[in-house]
Amino acid sequence: MNSQHLKNTRRLLLIALVMVCFAAFGSQAQAQSKKKFKQKTKAKTTAVTTAKPGQVLICTSKTTKTYHKKKCAGLARCKTKTSSLALAVASKTRKPCKICYPKGKAKKK
Ligand SMILES: [Zn+2]
Repeated sequence: MNSQHLKNTRRLLLIALVMVCFAAFGSQAQAQSKKKFKQKTKAKTTAVTTAKPGQVLICTSKTTKTYHKKKCAGLARCKTKTSSLALAVASKTRKPCKICYPKGKAKKK
């Protein structure tokens, strides 16, 4: 009778130990996944805010007719998605943004 009681106590202790282990592991895994998510979002923002060489950023809205060098105030006003486009393609249908391409620095024709 006494040994049976001891068995039960041991079993409860074991269950409690396992639960503590799971809780500790779970929170650790969660922290790691959060870290990964942070890194991912950071990489994504850098990809969107700066255009690759030979590429420009555009607002996909049909009403905008400008292209941008970087994520400037003009592009921040874009309510739709922003995407990158080759400069040669963008310059055919769009004009350079006045903020990204100040008149003084523009090449004279
Ligand atoms: Zn701009």
